Amino acid sequence: MRTVDHFIKGGAGGNAGSRTGDIFDPNTGDVQATVKLAGKALLDQAVANAQAVQPEWAATNPQRRARVMFKFKDLLEQNMDELARLLSSEHGKVIDDARGDVQRGLEVVEFAAGIPQALKGEYTHGAGPGIDVYSMRQPLGIGAGITPFNFPAMIPMWMFAMATACGNAFILKPSERDPSVPVRLAELFLEAGAPEGLLQVVHGDKEMVDAILDHPAISAISFVGSSDIAHYVYKRGVDAGKRVQAMGGAKNHGIIMPDADMDQAVNDLIGAAYGSAGERCMALPVVVPVGQDTADKLREKLLPAIDKLRLGVSSDPDAQYGPVINAAHKERVEGWIQKGVDEGAELVVDGRGFELQGHEKGFFIGPSLFDHVTTDMESYKEEIFGPVLQIVRADTFEDALRLPSEHQYGNGVAIFTRNGHAAREFAARVQVGMVGINVPIPVPVSYHSFGGWKRSGFGDHNQYGMEGLRFWTKTKTVTQRWPDGTADGTGENAFVIPTMG
Ligand code: NAD
Repeated sequence: MRTVDHFIKGGAGGNAGSRTGDIFDPNTGDVQATVKLAGKALLDQAVANAQAVQPEWAATNPQRRARVMFKFKDLLEQNMDELARLLSSEHGKVIDDARGDVQRGLEVVEFAAGIPQALKGEYTHGAGPGIDVYSMRQPLGIGAGITPFNFPAMIPMWMFAMATACGNAFILKPSERDPSVPVRLAELFLEAGAPEGLLQVVHGDKEMVDAILDHPAISAISFVGSSDIAHYVYKRGVDAGKRVQAMGGAKNHGIIMPDADMDQAVNDLIGAAYGSAGERCMALPVVVPVGQDTADKLREKLLPAIDKLRLGVSSDPDAQYGPVINAAHKERVEGWIQKGVDEGAELVVDGRGFELQGHEKGFFIGPSLFDHVTTDMESYKEEIFGPVLQIVRADTFEDALRLPSEHQYGNGVAIFTRNGHAAREFAARVQVGMVGINVPIPVPVSYHSFGGWKRSGFGDHNQYGMEGLRFWTKTKTVTQRWPDGTADGTGENAFVIPTMG
C-alpha cells in the first residue's frame, strides 16, 4: 500500500515517528494509502532546515523570488490533470471541481508573481527639515499553515505562495485526510527553483498542530478549518506570541427576493448547496425566500432540479457531485438530518440511505431538502457541511437581512434580486465578510482577499491579496536625517519630544 511521507528539505523522510493515519478512497470506502503522522521531533528538523534557508531567501531580490512563482504557475498548468485526479481520488470531489481547486490556488501564485510591485514601501521626502521617512515590509521569518481537507490545493497555495513570495520560509501541515496533493505541490515548487527547505510539508494531527503552536521559532500561523479548532489555534498561538489568522466554519445564506430571476437563482443554488457534496466553506446551505409566494415558487422549482441531480464516483465526468470525505463525516451529516426531523423541520427530500450501484460502501449521501426551518433549531445554528439545503422563510427584506447578520458564522452570503437599491442596502448592512449579488459563491479573486467575520474568522488579516501580504510581513519605518554640519552642539531642545513643526 502507498505511504504518503513528509516532504522535508527537498525530499521524503525525516525522523517521522511510527504513527500512521488511513487515507480512504471515498468512492469505495476502502483504505487506499496511509500517511505518516509525526510531532515535535520532525517539526524541529523542519524548523532547522527553514532557519538555514530563510535569511538568504529573504535577501534574494523580489523579482528573482517572483520568477519562482512564474515557473511554479507553469508547472501547475502542465500538471493540472494529474493534480486534479489525485485530489479527486482522496477528497471525492469530481474532477472538474478538483481542477477548480487547483486553479483558484494558481491564481494566488499569479498574484504572488507580482510581488516586487506589491512589496514596494512608502517614502516621504522632507517630512521635517532635512528629514525623510520611509517604511519597508520585511518578512516574519518562518510561517506555518494548517489546512482543512476540503480544498487541499487552493488553501495551501493561498498561504505558501504569499508567505514565500514575501521572503518567509513555510512549513505546511495539511489535512491528514487528503495529504497527497500538498506534497506534490511542494515537489513542484522545488522544481520551479525554490531552495530546499523553503517549503516543507509535515503530516500529523493534534500532536503536530500543538508542536507548531508552541514552537518558538515559528513567527506566524495561518489556519483554516472548523471554528472550535480555529479558536483554539488562535488563542494558543497568540499566547505563544505569534501572529495568527484563523479562518473557521460557515453557514452561508442565499436571500431570494421576490423579483429575483428564479430560474437563475435555482440553478445557482443547486450548485452552491450540493456541489462538492456541500463540503465548501462558501457553500450556500441556507436559502431564505422573502414572502410566501417566493417560498412556494422556489420550492416548486427546486424539487425537479434536485431530482435531476446526478451523483457518481468522483472520476465520472457526468457526475455533479461525489461522496463525502469519510464514514465518520457521512454519519455526522446524516445525524444532522435526523436532528432536523426531530426538531420539527419538514424533510422534503431525504438523501439518507442513498447507494451507488457497485459502490455500496462509498461515502455517498443523496441531496436533502428541508423546509420550514426556524432559527431556534440546532440544525440551523450549526454547520452541517454536507449536501443538505435548508429553507428558512422570511416575511420581509429586513427579516432576511437579520438572519445572516445574527448568525454565529459570517463567512459568505448572497442576495438574488433585480433591485439595485435592495442589493446595495444589503451589501452595506449585512454582518458577513463576503457578499455575492446574484453570485452564489463569492470567493474573492486573488488580488482582493478572503475572510469571514464572527466565528468564521479569528485574527485581523484576510487570506491573500494585499491583506495576505500584510499578514506575512512586518512594517519597519525609518526616520533619517543626514548631518549638514550646522549643529551648534548646545543640545538645545534635545529633551523635548521631537516634532516636525
Ligand atoms: P478541521 O478543523 O477538522 O481540521 C483542520 C485542520 O486542523 C487539519 O489540518 C487538522 O489536522 C487539524 N485539527 C483537527 N483537529 C484538531 C485538534 N483537535 N487540534 C488541533 N488541530 C486539529 O476541519 P476540516 O474538517 O478539515 O475542514 C472542514 C472545516 O473547515 C469546515 O468547518 C469548513 O467550513 C472549514 N473551512 C473554512 C474555510 C474558511 O476559509 N473559512 C475554508 C475551508 C474550510
